[in-house]
Amino acid sequence: MVSTHNLGFPRIGRQRELKFALEQFWRGETNAETLQETGKSLRLHHWAVQAELDWQPVGDFSFYDHVLDTSQLLGNLPARVDKNADTLSQYFQASRGQAGTNCCNHQIAAAEMTKWFDTNYHYLVPEFTAQTDFTAHPERLLKQVKEAQSAGHQAKAVLLGPVSYLWLGKSKDESNKLALLEKILPIYAEILGQLAANGVEWVQIDEPILVTELSLEWQQAFQTAYFSLAKSPIKLLLTTYFGQLQQNLQLACELPTAGLHIDAINAANEITQVVDWLPSHKVLSLGIINGRNIWKTDLNQALDLLEPLHKRLVDRLWLAPSCSLLHVPIDLASEQNLDTEVRDWLAFAVQKLDELQLLAKALNSGRESVAEQLAENRQAIQRRQRSIRVHNPAVKQRCEAIQPEQALRQSDYAQRAKIQQADLQLPAFPTTTIGSFPQTNLIRQARKQYRLGLIGDADYKQQMQAEIRYAIDKQLDLDLDVLVHGEAERNDMVEYFGQQLQGFAFTDNGWVQSYGSRCVKPPIIFGDVSRPGPMTIEWIRYAQSLTDKPVKGMLTGPVTILNWSFVRDDQPRSETCKQISLAIRDEVIDLENSGVKIIQIDEAALREGLPLRQSQWQEYLDWAVESFKITANGVTDKTQIHTHMCYSEFNDIIEAIAAMDADVITIETSRSQMELLDVFRDFDYPNAIGPGVYDIHSPNIPPEQWMVDLLKLAAKRIDKQQLWVNPDCGLKTRRWEEVEPALKAMVSAAKLLRDQL
Ligand code: GLN
Ligand code: ZN
Repeated sequence: MVSTHNLGFPRIGRQRELKFALEQFWRGETNAETLQETGKSLRLHHWAVQAELDWQPVGDFSFYDHVLDTSQLLGNLPARVDKNADTLSQYFQASRGQAGTNCCNHQIAAAEMTKWFDTNYHYLVPEFTAQTDFTAHPERLLKQVKEAQSAGHQAKAVLLGPVSYLWLGKSKDESNKLALLEKILPIYAEILGQLAANGVEWVQIDEPILVTELSLEWQQAFQTAYFSLAKSPIKLLLTTYFGQLQQNLQLACELPTAGLHIDAINAANEITQVVDWLPSHKVLSLGIINGRNIWKTDLNQALDLLEPLHKRLVDRLWLAPSCSLLHVPIDLASEQNLDTEVRDWLAFAVQKLDELQLLAKALNSGRESVAEQLAENRQAIQRRQRSIRVHNPAVKQRCEAIQPEQALRQSDYAQRAKIQQADLQLPAFPTTTIGSFPQTNLIRQARKQYRLGLIGDADYKQQMQAEIRYAIDKQLDLDLDVLVHGEAERNDMVEYFGQQLQGFAFTDNGWVQSYGSRCVKPPIIFGDVSRPGPMTIEWIRYAQSLTDKPVKGMLTGPVTILNWSFVRDDQPRSETCKQISLAIRDEVIDLENSGVKIIQIDEAALREGLPLRQSQWQEYLDWAVESFKITANGVTDKTQIHTHMCYSEFNDIIEAIAAMDADVITIETSRSQMELLDVFRDFDYPNAIGPGVYDIHSPNIPPEQWMVDLLKLAAKRIDKQQLWVNPDCGLKTRRWEEVEPALKAMVSAAKLLRDQL
């Protein structure tokens, strides 16, 4: 008999119950007890959904983030949390920080947040120093184990393993994190002992760093850790996901654990090798259902792969999704408005678990026992393969016919810069913003009414034009040099374009946790992408008609659209990206033809797409940069191309940034004291740069002198002729009362520098 289990279930709830419960609690509208009740009822509900599996995961639920849960479990919340507060308050102090209210109530900075491997989920970074001590706090986990057991479930505890935990954290004093291993292992042993004492048989111990390139030191840490934990009276399922084991394969197979889970989607080519290496007493859990995408599994094909393995492994074979289902929406049943044809191709978390059960049944009782479902699945897979909604020959032909010249500008940057300056006549230190202006309630309401059909085209257009006029007038008053229309008509920088492109579908409730209570609803790219008609021209043209100053055309780049969507699994990502790049290219050319002189193509998510293994970075960067250039470079020298990126780590990708060859790049720098410009300086980056001088994430209004100082720091690193002056990012989350004085100070900072430097 094969067994089934799940690595983790989405926590947020079908109706985002957890989000709303958390936010109510944070606003002080409910008490801790109510929040705990919501947590419990969600857990019970999620286990009920997973009841048919042989094991139910316990410990995957979290009020904010499972890495922070692990920190609390190990007694390693940041030292600055209030020792006298209760555990829940301490937990939220670490996750969200706490503003200082009076002399005795100190401000507590939140823990740093960063991306969880190559997903769009963010975890809270554990903090270490050489002095860090750990203590076991298994109460919450044990309580949840009891909850599951009393509801009749087979609790399999889920823990983040000690080596990955250390690896994911940050040393605050430059000390070697690995030196903490010997301190942390007894704590893990204590927790494992407690779990065993509470009737837990299996622990899923997540060590996802086994799919990354590990130095010898870290490989050895695995040996030390697992030989030590092997003494615990409990079975460990060493769990890896998101990629291939490669050079860590033998290590993962041989560590003394009772079982190993591998990602059978991303590491499909390693299955045979793993089966060969795996000692004959060990369980092999195959992550056969893709936990990262939303497509139906080809069950017949999966069975072709599984049947011979089942013959060989018999009871030692377990089946699961490839990774936690945290990364997919919960239930297709919550979608009432999804195109029925597309819907037929999809599986969300609940459907994925059904698929898992079906595979297990086919293996345990023969394919005949589920013949009908398998036939149905085969038909759905074939319908998708053959659909004309998926395959558009014109798009494929156009992609094949792309010529290298299409990705090239007419002249090099130096020449273009002269031509553009002659036309634009911008002052030194030109000032601009990144695109969006405050999204007021009025704007949101208008968009909503329009979406619901409560107001018509003409009404909506009039309201949006009024917003654009308002934003343009404000910018003229502020005396900014390059204006924007303000993006009032956009709910989201990807969704706005996806909704106007062919090949995209949207869900009503397909929420995926990004961090804490924040969720995103990624579009689904199901088919060949094309642009039926202009998407932004009318708004930009209107904005430009109101002023003689240049207004930037504002677009989202192909790589960002790709990286923030669920993408097709039937062609390489690079191919999908190329299709998007052609669609946006058409928009760029249309903008140029309507007299727009500056076009900004945002690539906020370019860095996010970097593969887990550095050895694969170049390949990704090559096609990502090529896609951007196809989008951007259909214009004449006179048109100035801007791009924008919201992060502050360019060391690894500076070459790619230079290859993108945008005339101007605006980046986030205000919080790094311009230090990140060092990499641009060291690279001799020739094109113009707008380092953000105003942190838009905070409601604080930056003083003029502060921005002057930042710009001077920038001018020490970059030729002043290359410098632009702008905020870190778009202003849509701010209020006009904050934006106006901040931009006023920014513009006068720029003017001051024009005179001084
Ligand atoms: N143009 C977008 C805006 O201003 C850019 C947002 C982003 O980079 N995340 O909102
Ligand atoms: Zn940004």
